Amino acid sequence: MSRIPVTVLGATGVVGQRFVRRLAGHPMFEVTRIAASDRSAGKAYRDACEWRLDGEPYTGLGDLALLPSDPQEAMNPVVFSALDNAAATEVEPAFARAGAMVFSNAASFRMDEDVPLLVPEVNPEHLGLLPGQRALRGWDGGILTNPNCTTTVLVMALAPLQAVFGVEAVLMTSMQAASGAGYPGVPSLDILGNVLPYIGGEEAKVEREAAKLLGSFVDGRAVPAPMTVSALCYRVPVLEGHSESVSVRLKGDPSPEQVREAMAAWIPVPQQLRLPSAPPVPIRLHSAENRPQVRLDVEEDTGMSVHVGRIRRCPVLGIKFALLGHNTERGAAGGSVLNAELAVARGLLAAVAQGVVR
Ligand code: NAP
Repeated sequence: MSRIPVTVLGATGVVGQRFVRRLAGHPMFEVTRIAASDRSAGKAYRDACEWRLDGEPYTGLGDLALLPSDPQEAMNPVVFSALDNAAATEVEPAFARAGAMVFSNAASFRMDEDVPLLVPEVNPEHLGLLPGQRALRGWDGGILTNPNCTTTVLVMALAPLQAVFGVEAVLMTSMQAASGAGYPGVPSLDILGNVLPYIGGEEAKVEREAAKLLGSFVDGRAVPAPMTVSALCYRVPVLEGHSESVSVRLKGDPSPEQVREAMAAWIPVPQQLRLPSAPPVPIRLHSAENRPQVRLDVEEDTGMSVHVGRIRRCPVLGIKFALLGHNTERGAAGGSVLNAELAVARGLLAAVAQGVVR
C-alpha cells in the first residue's frame, strides 16, 4: 500500500517524539515533515531537542529540519498535532482550512459540537461529524481530536459496561504520571517523594469529555450520555502510566463476575478491523490482587491496551476496580494514530490524500 505523507506538529515534545517513533515504518503513514515552535524552526531535529525515548534516536530523522508550524511550509494531507492548547487553537484550523486532516491531542476543539472526540473502540460512529464540520466551516480538511489521557483510559474500561448495562454514575480518582505534564513538566523538587492533589483543568475535562464519548450519535449529532461523573486527579512520581481507582453505578446492579464477563467479551471495531495500532485485546483483565501495576503492565501491547484488576463490590456505587493505561501512547500519540487508521479504513482520507499519495 502507498503511504500517506504526514506532518508531525510539536515533534520536539513528549507526545511529538512518540508520534515520530510510532510512525516509523507505519504501513499507512510516512513522516515527511516535522514542525515545532519558532524557537526550533530551521534547526535539524537532533539539534532542536534531546531524544528522550529508547530505540533509534530520532528514528533516523535527526538531520531533517524542523519547519515552522504553518501550512505554507509544513503542509501534508495528514497532520498529527502534539501542540499545546495555545498553539493548537491558531495552528490546527489553519492546516484544516488548507485541506489537511488534523489529528489533534489538544483540548482546544474537543468539545465543539461539530468536532469528533474519538476513541475508536468507544465511539467510532462519531467520525460521522466530519462532513458537517467541513460544510459548516468551509474546510476541505478537518479536525479530529482524541480525549485527555485520563479520560481515554477511563472510557476504554467503561465502554463495554455502558453497552451491556448502562452507566449511571462514576467516581474516578487518578494517580497520573509526570510525563502527562509535557517536557520538562513538573519540577523534580515538587514531584519527587510527593503527591500533588491538583492538575489544572483536568477534573473538568474528564467529567465532560467522558459524557461526550459515551453518549450516542443521533441524527448526525453527538448527544452526551446522561451520567454523573466525578473526577479527582493527582500527580504522582511515576514516569509513564495513569492509574485510576474507579467506582461505578450500573443499571441492573450487575455482579463483579458479570462486569468481568462484559469486559472480556468486548471486541470493538478496531479489533474487528485489525487496525495496525489496535491492541489484540483492548482491556487486559488481571486476576492477581496486586495488579495492574505501572512498572509491570503499562508497556504491554506498545501501551495501547488498558488494564483492569480487582473488580469487586463497592458499598457506595455497586462496582469498583483498579484501572491503568499509558498516558502518552494510548492517551496521546497512539490514540491519534489509531484514529487516523480508522479514518483510512472508513475511506475518509481518500479525498484529502488524493494526488499526494505515493
Ligand atoms: P510538550 O512536551 O510541552 O511539547 C509541546 C510541543 O509544542 C513542542 O514540540 C513545542 O515546540 C511545541 N510548541 C509550543 N509552542 C508552540 C507554538 N507557539 N507554535 C508551534 N509549536 C509550539 O507537550 P506534550 O506533553 O507533548 O503535549 C502536547 C499536547 O498533547 C498538549 O496539547 C497536551 O495537552 C496533549 N496531551 C499530552 C499528554 C501527555 O501525557 N503528555 C496526553 C494527552 C494529551 P518547541 O520544542 O519548539 O518549544
